[in-house]
Amino acid sequence: MTYVKNWNRKAQKESMIEKWEQYTGKNCPAYCSNANCDNKLDDDNKCGAHVYKCNKDGKQISGTIYIVPLCKECNNTYNEDAMRIGNDNLLAPLNKL
Ligand SMILES: [Zn+2]
Repeated sequence: MTYVKNWNRKAQKESMIEKWEQYTGKNCPAYCSNANCDNKLDDDNKCGAHVYKCNKDGKQISGTIYIVPLCKECNNTYNEDAMRIGNDNLLAPLNKL
């Protein structure tokens, strides 16, 4: 089990979800990767979110940035909560995309 937080960056035009799908060889999941979120990832509600790993208290534990499929609500810049990701396979390292 992994905790992550949003990594703040300037908005990007390119679809990180497409890159995530290419890297993992999977389609974007039907639901948000945040284990505590039930939102569906419809076409207008899915984001390839930039996140970093942290501990349960939100302290960063790795410099690696990952792409993970999140809903818009979870990907919001103002969401500074540590989010629990149930499956490590959902994290695609940005530098490999
Ligand atoms: Zn969500």
